[in-house]
Amino acid sequence: MVTTEALRQIPFVDLKTQYRSIAGEVNQAITNVLESTAFILGKEVSLFEGEFAAFCGAKYAVGVDSGTSALEMALRAYDIGPGDEVITQGNTFIATTLAISYTGATPVLVDIDPLTSMIDVSAIKKAITAKTKAIIPVHLFGHPADMNPIMAVAREHNLVVVEDACQGHGARYKGARVGAIGDIAAFSFYPGKNLGAYGDGGMIVTNNESVAGKIKVLRDVGQRQKYYHEVKGYNHRLDSLQAAILRVKLKYIDQWNEARRQNAAYYNDLFKDLDVVTPVTAEGCEPVFHLYVIRSDRRDALKHFLQERGIATGIHYPI
Ligand SMILES: *Cc1c(COP(=O)(O)O)cnc(C)c1O
Repeated sequence: MVTTEALRQIPFVDLKTQYRSIAGEVNQAITNVLESTAFILGKEVSLFEGEFAAFCGAKYAVGVDSGTSALEMALRAYDIGPGDEVITQGNTFIATTLAISYTGATPVLVDIDPLTSMIDVSAIKKAITAKTKAIIPVHLFGHPADMNPIMAVAREHNLVVVEDACQGHGARYKGARVGAIGDIAAFSFYPGKNLGAYGDGGMIVTNNESVAGKIKVLRDVGQRQKYYHEVKGYNHRLDSLQAAILRVKLKYIDQWNEARRQNAAYYNDLFKDLDVVTPVTAEGCEPVFHLYVIRSDRRDALKHFLQERGIATGIHYPI
């Protein structure tokens, strides 16, 4: 029996409800992979890569084992490494800066636009030095970064733009999907992301054929042809099982994102007379609300108040 008490619990993420709505299809997809025993790369991964590239409106997509790997491989594909500086925003998740550090490059953190919480383009301009090689704008919380002025600055200074789209699957900026606007983009399929696997996974999206080809070699122990190791590669492949699951979920992502936008609009309405700052959607943007983030001067008290009433919240990011 479901008690009134249980009904009042609002978890921060509820993966079970979503799974139940597609269980038949997902279980069949998993069984098909088990029956085929093609666990590494293969048909499911290449089909998903094609479908995900099409979803983004980009030419190429390369599956990898996490969003963090996607960011790192994207930077490596452009030969970014020791001595180089990469600009990103201070309020992002640690993985953005970890990926920069892994290559040996130096992360340079800049401030955000206080209205949208996205990277501040004037702060990017001030941070550019002779060592700057790339900019990583983050579509944080599922809201697109202001890509047009970022691309203009990047072109002027000959910098690579790597979109961190790990929270942005399906978001649109002036009509275009995020992931197809910069030079290259990284997505995460961590289970709690808008498009989540049942384990780890990630994707690199680009319109650059040679860069996509380079990453295919890099992710698979440096080989294009079995046992011919052209470069010092990595084991950063996307699992076939995850690809099969994600192919099922990709069919629903637009519908799920629309439901998130409707919930956000509902919350905006409920919060409008309260002393909290609700999320701002910049002009021409269609966010996907990976997170619905509000700001309050009494944050900890508000969190406690909600917690006592069974409503879970998170702080992004607490430290
Ligand atoms: C989740 C996330 C990542 C890393 O993705 P993983 O798949 O967990 O490695 C990178 N950047 C941002 C902004 C993220 O939210």
